[in-house]
Amino acid sequence: MSSEEKPGAALPVHAKDNPNVDAEGAPTKSALKKAAKEAEKAAKKAAAKEKEAAQRAAQQAAADEDKAVDNYGNISKAKEADAVKLKDLTDEYANKTVTFFARVENTRSQSAKLGFLTLREQGYTIQAVLAAAGDDVSKQMVKWALQTPVNSIFRVTGLVKKVDAPIASATISGLEVAVTRVYEVSRAVDFLPMAVRDAEKPIPESGIVDPEDKSPPVPMHIRLDNRVIDLQADINQAIFTISSAVEVLFTEYMFKHGSRKFNTPKLVGAATEGGAGVFAVTNYFGKTAYLAQSPQFYKQMLIAADCESVFEIGPVFRAENSNTHRHLTEFTGLDFEMVFNNHYHEVLSFGENLIVHILTTLQKEYAREIATIQRIYPRAGDFRIKDNKALRLKYADGIALLKEAGVDTSEQDRFETDLSTAMEKQLGKIIREKYDTDFYVLDEFPMAVRPFYTKAHPTDPNLSNSYDFFMRGEEIMSGAQRINEASELEQSMRAKGVDPNAEGFKDYIDAFRQGCRPHAGGGLGLNRIVQFFLGLDNVRQATPFPRDPQRLRP
Ligand code: ATP
Ligand code: MG
Repeated sequence: MSSEEKPGAALPVHAKDNPNVDAEGAPTKSALKKAAKEAEKAAKKAAAKEKEAAQRAAQQAAADEDKAVDNYGNISKAKEADAVKLKDLTDEYANKTVTFFARVENTRSQSAKLGFLTLREQGYTIQAVLAAAGDDVSKQMVKWALQTPVNSIFRVTGLVKKVDAPIASATISGLEVAVTRVYEVSRAVDFLPMAVRDAEKPIPESGIVDPEDKSPPVPMHIRLDNRVIDLQADINQAIFTISSAVEVLFTEYMFKHGSRKFNTPKLVGAATEGGAGVFAVTNYFGKTAYLAQSPQFYKQMLIAADCESVFEIGPVFRAENSNTHRHLTEFTGLDFEMVFNNHYHEVLSFGENLIVHILTTLQKEYAREIATIQRIYPRAGDFRIKDNKALRLKYADGIALLKEAGVDTSEQDRFETDLSTAMEKQLGKIIREKYDTDFYVLDEFPMAVRPFYTKAHPTDPNLSNSYDFFMRGEEIMSGAQRINEASELEQSMRAKGVDPNAEGFKDYIDAFRQGCRPHAGGGLGLNRIVQFFLGLDNVRQATPFPRDPQRLRP
C-alpha cells in the first residue's frame, strides 16, 4: 500500500514536528482514534439537531391545532390584569368581561367540548362555563380545566352573562361566566383530609341532622385539626366577618364617646387575680412571669392616670381546666373602664347601649352573613332584642323568677353562691318567654361572689354595685363600679382573705393614693358574643384557632 492510500492520509504530514504522524508521515493509531471519535460526535450532534427540529415542528403543529394554548395553563402564561371580587359581581357586570381569582369548588364535564366549574371566593360562588368554540377555548383547555384538582386556585377571565333560570348551586345565582382564559395560580393536592363542603354542614355535636344527607358528618375536632380548609367554608367566612365587625363596632362606639384605646401588658409579674387560673412563664430571665388573666388593674391605673375613659381589645389567658362549650384558655377580651358623674348606672347604661348598638347594627348590616349561618344553624337569625333596649333586672329579681319556675335557689338565697350555668340558661329561657328578649342585664350581685375591687352597695352590705350581661341565658360580660380609694381597697382585700402586701398589689393600690375619680367598667368576651348572637353550639366555632386544655394547634 502506498503512503497516499493509507487511511488518514488527509492528515498533515510533516513528520518531524507533527505528533499525529509517524516517522514515515503515516497517521498514528491515537490520531486515527481521535479522528473517528470526532466524526462520531459530529454525527450525533447533527442527529440531535434534527430530532430537536422535528420535535419543535411537532409542537408547533400541536399548537397550531390547539389555538387556545396560551389561554390556559400555568399563571406564568397570563398577562397582568385587574381583578374584581366575586362579592361585587352584580347584574351591572352583565355582558362585560371580568377577571377574578377563585377556588375550584366543583367541576362537571358534560362532553369533550363542554364543562362547568363552580368557583368560590370568600363564601361567594358562581358558575363558570367552558365551551370549546372558536380560537378562545379549545377541547384541550376544557379538559385541562376540568381535571385540575378541586380547591385549586384559578385566575379566570370571562364574559359575564345573565341566566334565564337561577343557578341553585351558586350563591350568585343570576349570573354565569363564559370562560375565555383560565390559569392555575396555585394547585391543591388531590387528597384533602376533609372537604370544604363538609364544613358547610352542622357539627354533629349540634344534634342537627339532615336526613337526606348520606355522608358521615365531620366532628368538630377534625374540622379544627384542618382549620385552614374549614375556614374556607362560606359559614366560617360569615362567622369571622361578624366577629371582625363586632370588634370594629365596639371600637367605633368607644371612639365616638371619647374613649381611648390602650394595650396593657400581657406578661405580668404576679398572679394577682387568684393563683389557680394563671399560666406561669417560668423562663423569664431567671424569674417567673405570668400571662394576664384580665386587663383589670391596668384599666383602673389608667383611670387613676386621668385617662377618664379607656378600652382595650386583647388576649386574655385563663388557666382553667374548663372543658365546656363556652370556655377557652385564651380568648379575646373587649374591656372598657370609665369615670362617671353621679352614679355607676351611667356606665351600666353606656354598656347596655354599646351592646344594643353592636347587635342591632349586625342585624341591619350583616343580614347576608347571618342568613348564610342561619342555613346551617337556624337560631342565627332569631336573636331578639325587645324594643332595641336591654332588659335590666336585679340579681334578686332573677332569683325570684327562677323560684317562681320551681327551681331550688336555697343556696343563692343566702347571697353566697353565684347562679350555676344551668340556672343562668334556664333564666334565659324564662326571660325570653316572659319579656321577649335575648339580651338582659342582672344588677346588684351579692358581694360574696364578686372580686375584691368591687364597690359595695351603699345600703345593703350583702350586695354590690356590680352587674353581668347575658345573651340567650349565658354570660358575656361582668362589670362593676370599682373601689377608687386605697384604704377601702385594702380593707376589701382583707375581708376577702387577700393580703394587700402580697407581691403584685403595691403598684395597683398605690395608683389610688393620689386620688382617683369614681369609675366603673366591664369585660366582655368577643368569642362568646359571636357564639351566642349566632346561636352557635360551641365557642370554638367563633374562634379562628381555639386554645383549650386539649388544644394548642394549629
Ligand atoms: P364564666 O362564669 O362563664 O366562667 P367568668 O365570670 O369567669 O365567666 P369573667 O372573669 O367575668 O368570666 O370574664 C369576663 C368575660 O370574659 C365573660 O363574661 C366572658 O364573656 C369572657 N370569658 C371569661 N372566661 C372565658 C373563657 N374561659 N373563655 C371564653 N370567654 C371567657
Ligand atoms: Mg363573670
